[in-house]
Amino acid sequence: MRPVMEVKTLIKRYGNFTAVNGIDLILNAGMCMGLLGPNGAGKTTTIEILEGIAKPTGGSVLFNGQPLGKAFKDTAGIMFQSTALQEFITVRETLQLFARLYQKPAPIPELVVKCALGDFMEQDTRRLSGGQRQRLLLAIALINDPSILFLDEPTTGLDPQSRRNFWKLIREIKQQNKTILLTTHYMEEAYELSDEIAIMDHGEIIARGAPKRLLAQHFNSMILQLPAMDADLTKLSAAIKFQRRNNEIEIESRDINATLQVLLAHNVNLENLKIRNHTLDDLFLKLTGHELRA
Ligand code: ATP
Repeated sequence: MRPVMEVKTLIKRYGNFTAVNGIDLILNAGMCMGLLGPNGAGKTTTIEILEGIAKPTGGSVLFNGQPLGKAFKDTAGIMFQSTALQEFITVRETLQLFARLYQKPAPIPELVVKCALGDFMEQDTRRLSGGQRQRLLLAIALINDPSILFLDEPTTGLDPQSRRNFWKLIREIKQQNKTILLTTHYMEEAYELSDEIAIMDHGEIIARGAPKRLLAQHFNSMILQLPAMDADLTKLSAAIKFQRRNNEIEIESRDINATLQVLLAHNVNLENLKIRNHTLDDLFLKLTGHELRA
């Protein structure tokens, strides 16, 4: 099967500074690829090149085997990181305005349902909440019924509930076999939505693969979390290895029973103990030696 999008040795330099340093990506039909990494990693630069908006310094981007051209522009949907909306017009009028730009726009009633806009169609765009605005921007990105959809940090600034609502919409869109490239610095978002992720840092991809598989490849343990004040850390440090994270300690364990016995033997209060799996944040820390700079 030919990939929908194929990116080879992509390079982008700004003067002497290399923002994207030779990355390769393959997007197959119907998959969601999550490009993630901290601020300044090069995600937006990469997605802008793949959207055909920015020119690379080197490397190639093919869409259905062809360089990006008119065919690509007609079938791509883009949700930019920040978009200025026309003020003093309603959500309905905004959709009608964008629909006029295309010969065969998606029916507006369908978009209203797909992006959950029903409750605020007659609202002025100046009065939208963050979540409503993002849903409208998603509808605008879908207005030409694209086969490939670019989402550049679509939930930045949203509260956790609105973010989860947005994820639900993206999942439904995914089921329509659209190819999605998502950039985010929320590891959880990438984990929830992506079939494959590529973690970027300093313009390079430092890990890639299906999120679960990637975690399984790198970790075969669980993490025990405890409030630091529930343990005598000086005594405990002689018996067990732990990391301090803010007001908590984290202990990596391959044998929970044995670890608990050590903790009990050191009179550690286990009432507030939590046990969790490794996350993509942990993977990032492992690969780079520093926490995700959100
Ligand atoms: P964020 O999460 O903050 O959006 P990002 O991963 O999308 O970050 P980019 O916006 O792609 O990162 O930026 C990558 C690097 O390139 C940054 O160091 C940025 O300062 C630099 N950069 C981006 N655009 C330009 C430009 N036009 N001129 C010079 N440097 C730039």
